Parts: sequence; C-alpha cells; structure tokens
Amino acid sequence: MRPEILQPLFAEVEALKGVGPGIAKALARLKITRALDLALHLPAGMLERVRTPNATHALVGRIVILEVTPFQVREGRGRAPSRIFASDADGNTVTLTFFNNPGWAKKQLPMGEARTVVGKLDAFGQELQIVHPEVMKPEEAQALPVREPVYPLTEGITNKRMRELVSLALERAPVLGEWVEPSLKERHGWADWRASLTAIHSDPMRDKARNRLAYDEIFANQLALLLIRQASQRRRTRGLQGDGHLLDKLRLPYELTGAQARVIDEIRGDMAQDRPMLRLLQGDVGSGKTLVALLAMLHAVEAGAQAAMLAPTEILARQHHETLRRQCAPLGVEVAILTGREKGRAREAILMGLADGSIHILVGTHAIFQQKVAYKDLGLVIVDEQHRFGVSQRLLLTEKGKHPPHLLAMTATPIPRTLTLTQYGEMEVSRIDELPPGRQPIDTLVVAEAKMEEVVAGLGRHLAAGGQAYWVCPLVEESEALDAAAAEERARTLRERFGAERVGLVHGRMKGPEKDDVMASFAAGDLGVLVATTVIEVGVDVPNATLMIIEGAERFGLAQLHQLRGRVGRGEGKSRCLLLRGPELSETGRARLALMRETNDGFRIAEEDLKLRGPGEILGTRQSGEQGFRIASPEQVAALAPAAQGDARLLLDRDGGLDSERGQAARTCLYLFERDAAVGLLKGG
Ligand code: ADP
Ligand code: MG
Repeated sequence: MRPEILQPLFAEVEALKGVGPGIAKALARLKITRALDLALHLPAGMLERVRTPNATHALVGRIVILEVTPFQVREGRGRAPSRIFASDADGNTVTLTFFNNPGWAKKQLPMGEARTVVGKLDAFGQELQIVHPEVMKPEEAQALPVREPVYPLTEGITNKRMRELVSLALERAPVLGEWVEPSLKERHGWADWRASLTAIHSDPMRDKARNRLAYDEIFANQLALLLIRQASQRRRTRGLQGDGHLLDKLRLPYELTGAQARVIDEIRGDMAQDRPMLRLLQGDVGSGKTLVALLAMLHAVEAGAQAAMLAPTEILARQHHETLRRQCAPLGVEVAILTGREKGRAREAILMGLADGSIHILVGTHAIFQQKVAYKDLGLVIVDEQHRFGVSQRLLLTEKGKHPPHLLAMTATPIPRTLTLTQYGEMEVSRIDELPPGRQPIDTLVVAEAKMEEVVAGLGRHLAAGGQAYWVCPLVEESEALDAAAAEERARTLRERFGAERVGLVHGRMKGPEKDDVMASFAAGDLGVLVATTVIEVGVDVPNATLMIIEGAERFGLAQLHQLRGRVGRGEGKSRCLLLRGPELSETGRARLALMRETNDGFRIAEEDLKLRGPGEILGTRQSGEQGFRIASPEQVAALAPAAQGDARLLLDRDGGLDSERGQAARTCLYLFERDAAVGLLKGG
C-alpha cells in the first residue's frame, strides 16, 4: 500500500484548483494525469528576455521587452506581411512584422500610444524588426519575468498556465525521509528530494538538482531490480540436465563459433541449478542467437521438459518455427506454433499436445502464455528480441509451469554495459561477441537525399541483376510536422518506375496477416523491393536481399539504424546500406551517420552514440523514456547507475526488509517511482 504521505501527489489533476475536464484532456496528451506527473514535468530550458529602453544591433537574436510607440502602418498586399513602424525611447525605428491577422495587429498597436512588445529582435538589413511580437500595455509588462523556465507544452496550455499548474502540484510534494546514502549526498552536494524538485522548476539549468532527481529514479530502478532478483533466487525449481542424446544427432551445416559455444555452456550451467535461470543473451544482429536458443531448448527436451519460445511478431514466430522444425524433425522432436492465427480445431490440437507432452517445443507470440495454455512440464522459456517486451512481462512469463521455468531472454539491442545494468540488473548477462566466420561486413554509404534520382537508378541496376532490396521510410503517412518521407508515397513512385508487381509495402497500420503475406512474397523472391517502416526491424531473414536504403536516416536512433541494417548481409554476397540524409544535418547528426559508415560493431555504435549526444541535448523533449526512465537521461543513467546499484545492494544487505529509517525512506522512493510490484516482493511481505 502506497504510504499516506504520497497520496496528495497521486491525486488526479482534476483535484487541483481550476483544473476542469478541458485542461485535464490537454494535459493527458502530455501523459500528465496526476499531480505527480505535473511535478515531474520538468522544464526543457530557460527562456531569457532582456528588458531594454531601446533596440540596438547588439541585442539582435535576443528576446527583448521593449516599450515602443507605433507611428505608421504599411498593409501587406497578397502574401506580403503587414508592417507597423514604431519608435523606441531614443526615437530609433523598429519594424513590427505580421504575416497574418493585420487587423488584430493594428488594434493592438494604436498609433501614438505606448505599448510593450516582446519578441526576438532580428536585423533586416540596417533595420531592426520583431516578427509577431507579443503585445501588451506597459503596466502589464512590468510583471513579466526576464528569466522563465519553459515547459514542453501542448495545444491549449500556455507556458504561463503550465507554470501555475506545476506550482500547484509542487505544493503537494511532501518532505520525505532521505533514502540517499549520506556520504554520497554530501560528495555531490545534493539537496533533499523536495528542495531539488523545486529548484529544477525555478531553474532547469541546475545540474545538481537534476542529477539528484535522476539518481533517485535510477536508485528506485536498481532497488526494484535487486528485489526482483532476490525474490527469484529464493524460488526453487528443478535443475535440467540433458544426456546429449538429441544434440548428438543434430546435424549442423557449420561449427559453433567460440562465442556460441561459451554461451551455451553458461546456459547449461544455469539450467542445471535448482534456482530458475534468469539470463540475458546479448548478441549483435546475425550473431547466431537462434542456434543458441535451439541448443538450449534441446537440452531441456533431453531432460524430459518442454520449451517455449516467444517472438515479438507473428512473422518472426513463423520464421523461427520453420527453422526449428526443419532442424528438429530428424531428431523426433515435435515443434508447434501458436499465434492469434491458430484457431478452432488446429488450436485445440496444439493445446492438447502441450498438455499431454507430445509437443516438445512451442514457438509463438504472446498467445503462448495465455491462461488457457497449459503445459505438461514447461522447463525453459526463451524470449527473442527481449527489448520489445518489458520487465513486468518478463516476470509474468515465469509463472507458468509447476516448477518455475528457466528463462533466457535474447536481444540484439547493443546497449552499453552501464545501461544493461539498469534495464536488466536482475539478470545474468551473456554476450556473443563474435560473428560467424565468412560474414562480410556491410558497406555503408551516406548519400544526400538530393541525389534521389541516382539512388533509384542504382536500385534499378540492382534489381535488374536479380537482387532484392529493402527501402525503409521513417513514417507511415505524410506528416508535415516531421517532414518525413511517407512509405505509401514512396511505394507509389517506385511502383511507377519498377512496376506494381515488383514493389511491396508493409507498415505498422496493416493487419498482421496482411503484413505477413507481403513479407512472405518478398522472402519468396516474388517482390524485388520491400518498402517498409521500421516494422521490419526485427529478425526476418532474406539472404538474397543485399541492398538496404534508409530514407531520412538522421531521424533514426543509431541502435535502430544498426538493427535495420542487420536485415542485409545475411547471405553470401556483398551487402550495401545507403543512408539517405536530408539537407539539414547538425554536427552531431553528421558524426552519428559517419559512425554508422565506419563500423559494423553494434556495441561500439551504442557506446559512441552515448558519447556523441552532448550535454546540450540532455535538455529538451528528447526521449529518455525508451529506457523506461522519465527523468534520467541515458547519459545520467550511464554515469549514476553503478553507484545506485552498489548503494541499493548495500542497503538490502543491511536491511533486507527495508524496515530501518532509511529502509522506510527507500520504500517511499520505490512508490514514488511506481515500482510498487517490487515492494510486494520484500521479505515478509
Ligand atoms: P540473430 O542473432 O540475429 O538472431 P540468427 O540466429 O538469425 O542471428 O543467425 C544469423 C545467420 O547466421 C543465420 O542464417 C544462421 O543460420 C547463421 N549462423 C548461425 N550460427 C552460425 C555459425 N556458427 N556459423 C555459420 N553461420 C551461422
Ligand atoms: Mg534473431
């Protein structure tokens, strides 16, 4: 149960003074539904204005608060803007420019009357101008702050309103017991939680406060993961030991790589224990994780248990099923598939086979963990492309079976070690750090989108030579706001060029079966080009596709680009990846794409990406949510997680039930960051 002291923060926003359904709805667009969400809605930066009696060239580029007297209007003709000329205290002329609504502007700026205008001062040749200034009476402008934190906003909520709402929420923030270890707090010079939170809202540039809050979140995360890990280690299960009779019969067309062999040993060691395995297997795209999964599953089957493998998409489940069935058939091992598509009689038959043990290995989507699916003796669960699932799902999976099953999660997301800790802190980690021999590195080129014609011509030559290609677009439909290339539009133009029957399209809005059909015809070689959004990011293998073109490459995360690029380079031939970049590329953007060109090593890409994101990009709306954090940026996570983990571990060693004063405070911290489930796992409830 959440402590009483936190209740006011967890109240719905409607409980705040002056918040009705309209505002609540607008806030909901920012995922703000409770006072807590407002309190944690941190400003993205600081707006600085200059109060000045006169406009000078020295102030160009700054936001000025300037008292002026309008003296002449020049109406715009057609699409030309309207201009109002005004003089400042020294009689210098400032041009106020309005692209729309000249009537409003004229009303706001009556000739000969003093008004205060607020906006960015631009130089327009020798003239000074402000485009679309805010206009107010001089006495109103008096109260205008020169420095003001600015918040991420949504339609219907101004920055001023947001500030009021946040301060209402902050009034509800209680003084809490301290969970941060005293020496750490002192070393960093951190203030209390509440003081830090308040400080950040008045000045978002306060690094100390920002770090303290990030630390709190990371600490809660680490503590929760440790509790999950402890709870799972207290559980007992049956160790599984295969006798090798199936593995001996398995015929592989190649040798295991050293890394595969090492990892499978680690897995077998875990599975032999009477504690359920909880292991994460990290391996770059194409490193051969599926084979490791197969060996682990056969090991379980040899020991008389069943194994289940969860895939994030139906297409991938089918592909795994195909591969596994082919390899297992000669061994007399029965492999079945279960997704939303298996219905009626077929489904019944599978459920029966699972219950009576005649199906040894099941592959599928989350359907394989539904209530109705009962296994005779599930001994091993494998989760492929784990990054598509969350921690809570990970926990749910191991509820099945009479003994808790062993769990192996696999991911190609090359997250840096420090971040692994925060996302998978409860798990042991194995890494495949070696690609199968003979794998040719993918040639990556960065090409300006302006050269589209040449790119398409090159694609034509590739197709004419019998090759296949992926064409990745960032968004599904034309969106002016993001100016992203639309997959539908791209498919249309490519169809005009190469014929409708040669170009397929898949995107996230299509239904599963529809998507599968297109992918299947691409895999079968019926289609030459597959235009797609990032839905093709995970796992499908089409060795003949050796060209990948990624439009708007600068808009993707590097890890995602790497994952996408991993779709090619799966066959014998040399593969290429063209990263098309838009006209406006920042310095960082340039460096990021250069990194993609330089290396095929996913782990290196992840580490460098972290470094490339300068501290300047920490502020702003950039997603840190992808790591499951709302405050801590990936950089902060990298910097603070080791200390947080060490501290959480020490605390639990000394006070496993979190009963001491600091323990109680730590509990509150868990609730504050909504790790309620972890509190439930504390020893003795
Ligand atoms: P991922 O780790 O991305 O899931 P896969 O398991 O799909 O990678 O493997 C990629 C490709 O490498 C497959 O075609 C697979 O048959 C092949 N492969 C796996 N292990 C080896 C090996 N030891 N030697 C050669 N090829 C291998
Ligand atoms: Mg895979």
